[in-house]
Amino acid sequence: MAEEPTYDDRDGFIWLDGQLVPWRNANVHILTHALHYASSVFEGVRAYDGNIFELSWHSRRLRASAEILGFELPWSVEQIDAACIETMQANNLKDAYVRPVAWRGSEQMGVSAQRTKPHMAIACWYWGAYLDPGAGGLRLDIAPWRRPAPFTAPVQAKAAGLYMIATMSKHHAEGRGFQDALMFDYRGQVAEATGANAFFIKDGVIHTPTPDCFLNGITRQTVIKLARRRGIEVVERAIWPEELEGFEQFFLTGSAAEVVPVGSAGPWNFEVGDLTRQIQKDYSDLVRGRLSNV
Ligand code: PMP
Repeated sequence: MAEEPTYDDRDGFIWLDGQLVPWRNANVHILTHALHYASSVFEGVRAYDGNIFELSWHSRRLRASAEILGFELPWSVEQIDAACIETMQANNLKDAYVRPVAWRGSEQMGVSAQRTKPHMAIACWYWGAYLDPGAGGLRLDIAPWRRPAPFTAPVQAKAAGLYMIATMSKHHAEGRGFQDALMFDYRGQVAEATGANAFFIKDGVIHTPTPDCFLNGITRQTVIKLARRRGIEVVERAIWPEELEGFEQFFLTGSAAEVVPVGSAGPWNFEVGDLTRQIQKDYSDLVRGRLSNV
């Protein structure tokens, strides 16, 4: 079987600082501040049948993430939206994953980055299921790393630096035969997976951790809306690991992951139940325009 091409060696076009360039020419210099000091923010967006789901929301979040890190993007939300659409069209994609990324350039080395210029690129490609739950749901490990406190890291930014412990936790899980990891936070409360938010179900009620030290995902907020629209009670609160024993169902949400059932997390087991299936279907109907977005 042919090996999947590496991400730097593909056909197509990438939007870079205002123009489309051939995929293989979308490069940065080694002495780019972002590469050394993680001064980079990004988005993960999905397009369904030519429609990019909640595009402006993602573009707003990209600008907000950069601002949290102290740099301003010279592109407006409307310009970022238009650039994403242009990139999709240039690559002839209708169902795609779109990856805008913004970073500080190479005008300065060292911790200070006041003189660096902001850059932005947008790539897109076909990406199938990010996590494959199989019939019984995902098998999650418990991460050895904890989500940092809001006074330790800029937790509401989708910033590259925050993914250091996510990748380490994911590798730790994969090395032990799991697909992903459930992360606790600095207090020991249940937080999220390495790239997706967590929801639990018990007695027909949905419980989800309050997003006070991790990303309040766009999919998370969408799913809460969808559930409430169905009259399902959704409770946002602190959730402790001791409670995991009592939950019947567990699912993850994210733009890449979408809605994925979890079968186990560490020693705790869950069923792939009707309510999870319903939310999964509602989300899929919404992103494909079969359900209205009110
Ligand atoms: N948490 C983390 C760490 C993530 O990487 C993501 C994916 N962006 C999410 C949560 C879910 O966010 P969203 O639904 O906005 O994609």
